[in-house]
Amino acid sequence: MSEVATAVEFDHVPCPFCGLVCDDLQVVRTGAALKVTKNGCSLAVTGFERALPATSPQVGGRDVSVQEAVAEAARLIRKSSSPLYGGLSTDVAGMRAVMSLADRSRGTLDHAFSSAFGQNMKVLQSAGWITSTLTETRNRADVIVIVGSDVHALHPRFFERIVRADTTMFEETDKPLTVVFIGEGLDQSAASGPRVGKVVTLPCPLHSVDEVMGALLARMRGNKVSGDNVAGVPLAAIEGLAKTLSDAHYSVLVYTPAGLHTDDSDLTVHAICDVVRLLNKTTRSAGLSLGGDEGATTATSVCGWQSGFPTRVSFASGAPDYDPITNELPRKLAGNESDLLVWLASYSPDLAPPDTDVPTILLAPPAMTPPNAPAVFIPVGTPGLDHAGQLIRCDSVVSLHLRDLGRSKNPSVASVLTAIEAAL
Ligand code: SF4
Repeated sequence: MSEVATAVEFDHVPCPFCGLVCDDLQVVRTGAALKVTKNGCSLAVTGFERALPATSPQVGGRDVSVQEAVAEAARLIRKSSSPLYGGLSTDVAGMRAVMSLADRSRGTLDHAFSSAFGQNMKVLQSAGWITSTLTETRNRADVIVIVGSDVHALHPRFFERIVRADTTMFEETDKPLTVVFIGEGLDQSAASGPRVGKVVTLPCPLHSVDEVMGALLARMRGNKVSGDNVAGVPLAAIEGLAKTLSDAHYSVLVYTPAGLHTDDSDLTVHAICDVVRLLNKTTRSAGLSLGGDEGATTATSVCGWQSGFPTRVSFASGAPDYDPITNELPRKLAGNESDLLVWLASYSPDLAPPDTDVPTILLAPPAMTPPNAPAVFIPVGTPGLDHAGQLIRCDSVVSLHLRDLGRSKNPSVASVLTAIEAAL
């Protein structure tokens, strides 16, 4: 007689599938299958409910034990003169482990989303910024401006949890707020409900959002803008936004770095930060960068604590050396500057390593199908599903504890990398 699996219910489950890390999901596990029963968005349902194929570690395409795969990975790293550690889609412990290994092997680290996140870094390093948190935005904002990125598509519960939240900490923020969208085709369907008083759209092609932001800044500074429209947005509407912002008690300008479509999106981030800086002379305002998917905020934060720099750090000299251009992983691969790639992906099987002839050690979910057969493949667990962990939210201020839902016994990235380093 076959055994009937018992269903186990988990409440207040943090979700690791985007940078918001919502911590109120309800998930039921039956055997190795997870089902989101409350508060899951489409991304969460896809992530939690994805089927987990049975896979074995492999060396050269041959099934082996974890110990054999670890030994081969250690051998390859030992003989490599310039290993690259990429993807970096992991949790705090995984990031600490890969930094230790990169330091020991004189390797270079680059997160898969460094280019998008780097737009923020360029501005933060060159001019500084004033930013808000998810909690502060929910509790205090009376005007929220969505700048040129499809926040609802990329973070499906942002409006539900932050903009339309039923309660806030302060009575005075319970008055309806104004939501402004800058850009055409942004999903506005979630900008509704009792807390949302007014929705304003400044429609312009997404690649021209920087022009509109530049004109807004110019008018706020009292400078002239020629013509009666900018990228199709009437100048009167831009001046109306300037007044809405200066009349607000606390405005927040929200964007997702990877969702910006302008050629030089750091200039858009610059304009956002300049508008915020100007507003703070007379009222309160802040920027809010979302993103942080695939552990990007975690990787940047841990790299910052341990090396003093964001990702794109090389330990080739024996000390951390930050260079966002020289240490870019695709550039190093294209320039034949590395003889080994170690690729870490623990949330999505879609975060495959780049198509390269360089021998690759792949630590990834069992369902991943990489473009080339890796030299070593070790299936790993997903933090928050297969093992406990910590993930840093997109606003960089909260580290959330991820729970072990007992889906599989696949090892964590941290435990595999620690074993590899011990075998060097
Ligand atoms: S919005 Fe993001 S963190 Fe929240 S449930 Fe959806 S995927 Fe998970």
